[in-house]
Amino acid sequence: MTIIFRDTLFTQHDTGRHPENAARLAAIDAALTASGLLDRCTSGPVSVLAAKDLLHVHAADVAQKAQTVAAAGGGHLDADTVVSAASYDVALAAAGTVVAAVDAVMSGKHREALCLIRPPGHHATPSRSMGFCLFNNVALAAEQARRVHQAGRILIVDWDVHHGNGTQDVFYERADVVFYSIHRAPPFYPGTGAADEVGSGKGRGATINVPVEYGTGRQAYLQLFADGLERSLAVTKPDLIIISAGFDAHRLDPVGNLGLEAEDFGAMTKLVCDAAAHACQGRIVSCLEGGYHPQALGASVVEHLKVLTSQSMNI
Ligand SMILES: [Zn+2]
Repeated sequence: MTIIFRDTLFTQHDTGRHPENAARLAAIDAALTASGLLDRCTSGPVSVLAAKDLLHVHAADVAQKAQTVAAAGGGHLDADTVVSAASYDVALAAAGTVVAAVDAVMSGKHREALCLIRPPGHHATPSRSMGFCLFNNVALAAEQARRVHQAGRILIVDWDVHHGNGTQDVFYERADVVFYSIHRAPPFYPGTGAADEVGSGKGRGATINVPVEYGTGRQAYLQLFADGLERSLAVTKPDLIIISAGFDAHRLDPVGNLGLEAEDFGAMTKLVCDAAAHACQGRIVSCLEGGYHPQALGASVVEHLKVLTSQSMNI
């Protein structure tokens, strides 16, 4: 059965008037409740990452800065990354929950996990929080799979409309964690993710970037996504697939918008599920990143979870 992680704790990261706000989770919850899909899932508890475990991915001052600003009552970590008094603790819970999802899947207890957490993580680099992201949840999850579960190879699929620059930076020189990102082409935020960013050293070829121009049609986008996934699987046969699941490529999204409909996220999920079934007994950990139109976000997560849960029901 699919395990789903959602908790009101993640609404306590209070960003005020900001696109990445707590109402996002309320919109997802409402849509999931109405869908009936929660009956097909087990709920998992929140886990809190020990601050020292951030060091697997981040320099010490990344945590120190977030902790200091939160302890002072809140403020900005960069121009668009806001923290409130609770944000440091909530960010540790977000990362810890994604790490626990890896434990649930790698132990064989559950085949797929969906983590509806915030703050998001894929822009957080080894040396700084940025782009609404405090700590890099998926990078910490990949490290957990590698270190604790002895997974040989991980594939991270990032379909958030923004390039996952932070995740790319963490693994740029490594071959064991392959990073595949499809996103709106630079100079769109964060300005990275050109096709010629392919990794370096031992990691050369293990970073796959598919930049998509604004105005690309849905069918063309889905074909680009499928082609990029195929290229990624030619590089690695993963023991686990982690999805940086942003839903801001939806046509209604006020921040991103690549013209997708909610069902397109179902189609992409199916492709990733098929890849996971072939490579790694279906093991998938999906982690919420962006998505800023409440109704579109809710509808898109429903399509995503519908496909994830149908995989387990087919066993
Ligand atoms: Zn995004």
